[in-house]
Amino acid sequence: MLLARDSGLAKSEEREANSEKEKMAKTSSIAKANKKPKFPVRQHNRCHICGRPRAFLRKFGICRLCFRGLALRGEIPGVMKSSW
Ligand SMILES: [Zn+2]
Repeated sequence: MLLARDSGLAKSEEREANSEKEKMAKTSSIAKANKKPKFPVRQHNRCHICGRPRAFLRKFGICRLCFRGLALRGEIPGVMKSSW
């Protein structure tokens, strides 16, 4: 199937607008997550660095991606990539 293609500029603008939208929603949900909820079961863990809602490591308080980055740079004491 062939579709009429928009100019590349319009596409990038569209993408920019979408990422802006995502960013806005995330900022509000991060603010929401930082507030003390009315009921404790509504508590949801989020990465303290980037705010990622999934793959949160309780032991470190950050997400897997931030954890990986810090660990590979040797910024988390005692954490080393396994190799045997
Ligand atoms: Zn993170």
